[in-house]
Amino acid sequence: MRYCPQCSCEMARREIGGRERAVCPNRYCGFVHWDNPVPVVGGIVEWDNQVILVRNVGWPENWYGLVTGFLEAGEMPDEAILREVKEEIGVDATIESFIGMYEFYRKNQLLIIYHLRAHSGDVVVMEDEIADYKWVAIDKVKPWTAGTGRALRDWLRTRGIEREMFDFSDVNN
Ligand SMILES: [Zn+2]
Repeated sequence: MRYCPQCSCEMARREIGGRERAVCPNRYCGFVHWDNPVPVVGGIVEWDNQVILVRNVGWPENWYGLVTGFLEAGEMPDEAILREVKEEIGVDATIESFIGMYEFYRKNQLLIIYHLRAHSGDVVVMEDEIADYKWVAIDKVKPWTAGTGRALRDWLRTRGIEREMFDFSDVNN
């Protein structure tokens, strides 16, 4: 953050609460960019012993992940993931369980992950956001090392499936 969003002064750096932060040097303003993590919801959407993986627009060809999205104002995470699943893949679903919270420090996000059961396997993607999707059999799906992949690994464990995680950067196809 280069300029103060409140008064447009050039931001400075100062230590507050044990961390260096971007602060506005204007003493009548004093805005602090706390840079708090953003909550992101994600869903492991199951249907007919498969889970859906999606490739977001702009991702490399071989990257597929869970359906994810941001909370709207006045919305709880469980409502948000049901809405996102409906919007992004056109599927009505029911929440089965809360899987857990996971770090995604690289993007300064807190991931909140649920297991959902789809009411049907008929997918209609929101083309602005989703470039491709695939249903993958639960006994074949491989979790990935980053972000939501750890939630998928943990969920597979609850099914008695122990599986190595792979790194997207190692995949060349
Ligand atoms: Zn300012």
